Amino acid sequence: MSLRRIIKLATGQDINTCHTCYDCDISLTGEMDIPLGSLVQLALLNDEEALHSRTLWSDSVLEASCGACKRGLDLHAVMIALREESLRRTNTET
Ligand code: SF4
Repeated sequence: MSLRRIIKLATGQDINTCHTCYDCDISLTGEMDIPLGSLVQLALLNDEEALHSRTLWSDSVLEASCGACKRGLDLHAVMIALREESLRRTNTET
């Protein structure tokens, strides 16, 4: 199942509505390897890199993601869904 579909099922949100405007950029440089908007785009491309990015696993970024999207996407919920999927895949592999 694609990451887009997994997020849709878990959060009710379609990340295809992301406009790649990058208004969600938050300044936590040391905590992030990619901007939040890029995390959403990687998930949209079904790229597993989204599941392993430092940005996804930073608790500071997770906290700051609340209300970060100016277009109505709940990025906090998207991050939680991606984290859960990453853990699920890790547990399936072992
Ligand atoms: S602000 Fe929202 S719509 Fe814009 S890039 Fe970030 S996630 Fe996508």
